[in-house]
Amino acid sequence: MATIEPRRKYVAIIGTGMAGLVTAYMLRNDTRRRFEVEVFEKQDKLSLDSASHTLSDQNGRGEKLERLDLPMRAFADGYYEGLKRMYDYFGIEYGSPRFVYSLSALSDTATKQASPYYIHSSNNHQMPPLRPEGLSRARWLVEVCYLAMCYYWFTACCFFVTPKTAELSGEEEPLRWYLERIRLPGYYVKNYLLPLMSSVTTCSHDALMDFPAIDVVDYERRTFRKKHYTVLGGVHRVQKKLSEDLTYRLGTKVTAVENVGTKVQVSWTDTHNGQSSWELFDHVILGVTPDVVGAIFQPLQSAMAAVPTTTVQSVVHRDFSKILDSSKYLWTHMSLNAGESAPQPIHMRSNATATESIHEHPSFALITTCPIAPIDPEKIVHTVRFTRVLRSSSSRQIINHIFNRTQSGDEKSQLWQNGDGNVWLVGGWCWDGMVMLEGCLASAARVAHALDVEVPWTEGNDSSTSS
Ligand SMILES: Cc1cc2nc3c(=O)[nH]c(=O)nc-3n(C[C@H](O)[C@H](O)[C@H](O)COP(=O)(O)OP(=O)(O)OC[C@H]3O[C@@H](n4cnc5c(N)ncnc54)[C@H](O)[C@@H]3O)c2cc1C
Repeated sequence: MATIEPRRKYVAIIGTGMAGLVTAYMLRNDTRRRFEVEVFEKQDKLSLDSASHTLSDQNGRGEKLERLDLPMRAFADGYYEGLKRMYDYFGIEYGSPRFVYSLSALSDTATKQASPYYIHSSNNHQMPPLRPEGLSRARWLVEVCYLAMCYYWFTACCFFVTPKTAELSGEEEPLRWYLERIRLPGYYVKNYLLPLMSSVTTCSHDALMDFPAIDVVDYERRTFRKKHYTVLGGVHRVQKKLSEDLTYRLGTKVTAVENVGTKVQVSWTDTHNGQSSWELFDHVILGVTPDVVGAIFQPLQSAMAAVPTTTVQSVVHRDFSKILDSSKYLWTHMSLNAGESAPQPIHMRSNATATESIHEHPSFALITTCPIAPIDPEKIVHTVRFTRVLRSSSSRQIINHIFNRTQSGDEKSQLWQNGDGNVWLVGGWCWDGMVMLEGCLASAARVAHALDVEVPWTEGNDSSTSS
């Protein structure tokens, strides 16, 4: 007797960043082919690579040069196990660029060049560190020794002094309280920890101080002495792999996601002609930032208002005026060994509240993230804005509640939990950690597990190597 195949489930995925595309890939590749996946994106192109920019040459012939990934989407051993496994599975090559960070303090007006007070090389590839111009040998030696002491003290604390968390001690300890508790000197915090860490979180120093200490401590522990990488050739390679044969609707802004009986209704507006439509699905997966979740999914409206977000700007330009001297000095003194990739200076310039980073890309373009000093408008090539999801003590508790299904029936609170009504959340912010690409992989895998779908890159299918 012929067996009747169960009806395939219709799944809508909203958003085509890393989280949406990875989740779509997993469900489409379900070995039992149980899911019909449709992806919605409000932009006119898939978003994982949409902010990146291809530089044209400057001789007017319009030849394409290099692809600049925006954001850079760096990752590291120790923290990004899911991401690395996926890249290896797809044969995406990645390398460890030799970044040279020059740290300097900006004047109040931020219009002048700033002299670096310290120069640090990624993975300590340049030892001893370069001595900044104008700093006497004695002054520099004192600075290096002081820095080493503070750094090893902070690292030891990360391993041996656990931050307070709601689950362990009933209260959530923000980073600023933790740094006070471990008595990390203010000079080190202001001049080293905040500039370097806020360039990872791309937010103001104050916002970073409000992060749960456990996030930063866990990140430090897991990436201690580990290598950092970027994708070779651009993140568009990842997007291409994830979106092969994908069915998607571009220019489609989802306006509401609602439970209707046992189904989930997705309503959207066509961004070109303004026409509104809706469709019913068995499952809906929201791969969008929390502000968008709050706007389109009523049960999470008030909870999402407590998840902080900010807007981050990245500018590709050729205004070298703010870094000319510092750049010249670095290029004269950095080690340029045959056979090794050229170092890439990143100028990190801080004022009392924030740090801007100016990355000298090998293609002779500058990429400024979180600009503080004005950039000559004539020299701007490309500007993008991102919504950056941040962390706070209260948002950590809300997010953990949404994703930890631990309550027994009668203890279950009123707050919506992941999967209720067949609506799911994925994204860089949908896990208990820093808002990074690994959160996309972890949350996508969580949905896959809940729907009983295998994650392809955990099944021992690795097909290539990394560089
Ligand atoms: C400046 C900056 C630098 C960063 N650097 C790094 C880094 O080096 N390493 C790292 O690991 N992480 C980094 N991150 C974090 C990382 O990039 C993000 O965590 C990750 O890209 C989030 O992906 P996502 O899929 O969750 O969401 P997103 O990439 O935000 O995707 C959401 C998608 O939903 C779409 N959308 C929104 N609303 C709607 C709607 N109503 N209808 C339809 N579609 C909608 C959007 O257009 C977008 O495509 C950085 C972030 C920023 C801002």
